[in-house]
Amino acid sequence: IKMKHLIDKLEREKALTKTEWITLLNGRTPDLAEYLFAKARDIRHQHYGRDIYIRGLIEFTNYCRNNCYYCGIRRGNEGLKRYRLTEEEILSCCEQGYALGFRTFVLQGGEDLYFTQEKMTHIICSMREKYPDCAITLSIGEREREEYEAYFAAGANRFLLRHETANEAHYRTLHPAELDLNHRKACLRNLKKIGYQVGSGIMVGSPGQTAEHLAEDLLFLKELNPHMIGIGPFIPQKDTPFREEKAGTLELTLFLLGLLRLMLPKVLLPSTTALSTIHPDGRKMGILAGANVVMPNLSPQENRKLYSLYDNKRSMGDEAAEGLALLKAEMESIGYRVVSARGDSLVE
Ligand code: SAM
Repeated sequence: IKMKHLIDKLEREKALTKTEWITLLNGRTPDLAEYLFAKARDIRHQHYGRDIYIRGLIEFTNYCRNNCYYCGIRRGNEGLKRYRLTEEEILSCCEQGYALGFRTFVLQGGEDLYFTQEKMTHIICSMREKYPDCAITLSIGEREREEYEAYFAAGANRFLLRHETANEAHYRTLHPAELDLNHRKACLRNLKKIGYQVGSGIMVGSPGQTAEHLAEDLLFLKELNPHMIGIGPFIPQKDTPFREEKAGTLELTLFLLGLLRLMLPKVLLPSTTALSTIHPDGRKMGILAGANVVMPNLSPQENRKLYSLYDNKRSMGDEAAEGLALLKAEMESIGYRVVSARGDSLVE
């Protein structure tokens, strides 16, 4: 009863205190989750109907200057074969994606300084010129404000940069000392000021994560008020320091998706590849918990295995852009429809 009241309060006030968040997270049960998901679906239907937005994910480089303990493309992973797509290859991904109905292209990669500001600007300008009706999303990590400004001016519209955890001490256990949570948060605020639609988020069940940390994440996200929030389970990768750690759970990821939908009704919420990697029905369950976006892989097939953020990462079948028909059927089976719209966020 008490837990249901907290969910009712969250729905009404779109906010909870830190103590309330912790109580709710620790007190969750399967019944309570169903109660939450029904509300989350209602709210999602009010704002976004039954449409599912799709994004074509182009993993354009697996070189990275960073050494995050969880990530398979960290610079310390010396056994990994590295690749970079050329501008022509990127544009050819876009061409295939456009023909399939994609109207958002996400350029994601490690922090690879081979792609200088000049090279990136050139790529973005070419994409903008060829696809004036498409959204261009960047997910290339932490940069100077001027660089973000240049890409926005070149035609990029959106930026994905998960904060990973809002707790300083926890952040330091996931990253080497050279990475700083405050810098990451400053990047997010700069991106918003510049005018990007901004996405942040976390890995659910990352090593050492507690209910208190999650409460801090929810408070941080409330304050940031991003246009999009990407969350997925942490999944260990065999060539990282976290190889022996336990993966995050489907259950907690879904519960958090529901909470996010109630807290930020208009936010865009992807049902992530990581979710569909830990459970064959993970993507559908994410949608039924309040998510409304999926991001099929549009990278060249021969590169996909090398963008190995975590073990067994799915990139084929319904996770692949060319498998869009499968995804459409899957979404229809639960009463949703994949649409070709750009799918801009309704968050102001
Ligand atoms: N380098 C850019 C950045 O840091 O934002 C973009 C690419 S980074 C690989 C994209 C996301 O992958 C990260 O924000 C992180 O949350 C996620 N990720 C990395 N390793 C993961 C793992 N082992 N399990 C689940 N997600 C992971």
